Amino acid sequence: MAEPELVDVVVVGLGVGGEEVAGRLAEAGLTVVGVERDLVGGECPYWGCVPSKMMIRAANALAEARRVDGLAGTAQVQPDWAPVAKRIREEATDNWNDKAAVDRFTGKGGRFVRGSGRLDGPGRVRVGEQVFQARHGIVLGTGTRPSVPPIDGLADTPYWTNHQAIEVEELPESLLILGGGAIGLELAQVFARFGVRVTVIEALDRVLALEEPEASEVADAVLRADGVEIQVGVRAERVSHDGRGFTVHGNGGLEFTAERLLVVTGRRAHLDELGLDSVGLDASQRYLPVDDRLHVTDGIWAVGDVTGEGAFTHIAMYQASIVVADLLDHSRHADGAADASGTASVTRRRDGRGQRRRRATATAGLTGAAGTIPRADYRALPRVTFIDPEVGAVGLTERQARERGINVQVGFTELSSSARGWIHKAGNEGFIKLVADADQGVLVGATSVGPAGGEVLSALVVAVHAAVPLSQLRHMIYAYPTFHRAIEDALRNLG
Ligand SMILES: Cc1cc2nc3c(=O)[nH]c(=O)nc-3n(C[C@H](O)[C@H](O)[C@H](O)COP(=O)(O)OP(=O)(O)OC[C@H]3O[C@@H](n4cnc5c(N)ncnc54)[C@H](O)[C@@H]3O)c2cc1C
Repeated sequence: MAEPELVDVVVVGLGVGGEEVAGRLAEAGLTVVGVERDLVGGECPYWGCVPSKMMIRAANALAEARRVDGLAGTAQVQPDWAPVAKRIREEATDNWNDKAAVDRFTGKGGRFVRGSGRLDGPGRVRVGEQVFQARHGIVLGTGTRPSVPPIDGLADTPYWTNHQAIEVEELPESLLILGGGAIGLELAQVFARFGVRVTVIEALDRVLALEEPEASEVADAVLRADGVEIQVGVRAERVSHDGRGFTVHGNGGLEFTAERLLVVTGRRAHLDELGLDSVGLDASQRYLPVDDRLHVTDGIWAVGDVTGEGAFTHIAMYQASIVVADLLDHSRHADGAADASGTASVTRRRDGRGQRRRRATATAGLTGAAGTIPRADYRALPRVTFIDPEVGAVGLTERQARERGINVQVGFTELSSSARGWIHKAGNEGFIKLVADADQGVLVGATSVGPAGGEVLSALVVAVHAAVPLSQLRHMIYAYPTFHRAIEDALRNLG
């Protein structure tokens, strides 16, 4: 068996979170091995955020062009998927090639290993025949994969996940989408706007079920207006494929057919592949539980979707900063102790001239006030569903706040009743909903739906994050006529 190779840090999984951690630690002068079995960058740049937002940009351009009638004359719109597919292939994903990302990491001084990593006892990671012993820590950033429900017959069919939906070069004539969450709705609207006959099948009683019911109502209405058929409260019980198309058999004898079937019913971490038992961790959990510094256990950190703290790129990046600061702090203390005993930094990376690279300056700025490591705080977690209108939300929904026993006040206003919403006219669906803690006099959650709902959200994120007193929010100046001015109306309606 190969001798373990001593390094400072091993990062397993170079998605958004892992790539950020590995790159920054390497830049700071640690010897970092980054292990990735697929593409460096992970889901977001190749099959997630970036290409899906390119699709949405294109679909929204079509929708805006269709709004010319009645506002600015007439426009004839002829959708064509070819430029969208080309842009995704050439500009977003480099034809699903991660050379640039690998070069970026190795350019920072990291060492890249392609393969599947798994824990192999305390401090050790195995990748095939190679074994690395991590002196300061192991970071798991292994993300999630689509969670495919155990529906009779489904596994035997050529169904799509987000991968095939993003890679598609020629659109099908019709598409069934299992799952009415954020990803399902974003893709449903895109494909419908390009002329695909889309049906969304959702088992719960409303789409976008994690958000406010009012947001579900708007989403439901705008998607239907785009021609999407929405079936809520339908449980898919059996799926069949006859070589030409799919049939989804639902409860109550319902049947839906289409040329393609896209399954977007959630995502799942695959902890059983990580060798967790070799360090005494339970692999049967849904996610890897972490503390507020992203520690899993001694010498192991986790980052991103695998932590179950919200499957968003901005969460992975936020957590990555904390992991980097904590690991650098940890390594500084370890080196300090070793320096005192005269055995310091045997593995610290050396530059081409054999000089030790100093990391003290690289560490500066990563710690919080008075040198403290920042701690993860998800109170003001923002999320945006990029349908048109965008559905942005932060913190608690009204229901979550009530379930926590908060003395809730709600403020609501329709966007169309604001000056900007009225001016905007076609495509002005939306609202602002505020959820306040009446005892503390602060917002604990908010939803902003509208043409720029995700951007308007930023003001509400600051309000929740910094616990800005309601009295201050009421007495600040909101520019006229912006969409965000509707926040002032919602504040007036709090009660
Ligand atoms: C269609 C879609 C749209 C999305 N849109 C948005 C959006 O608009 N905004 C947003 O914030 N988020 C969005 N997301 C979510 C976002 O993509 C994820 O939150 C983000 O990619 C999580 O990053 P991660 O580093 O945790 O994991 P991932 O990106 O999943 O990366 C994990 C990596 O680990 C690798 N890996 C796993 N196991 C091993 C192993 N044992 N050894 C080696 N490598 C391993 C995988 O190959 C993968 O590359 C979207 C997701 C999808 C699917």
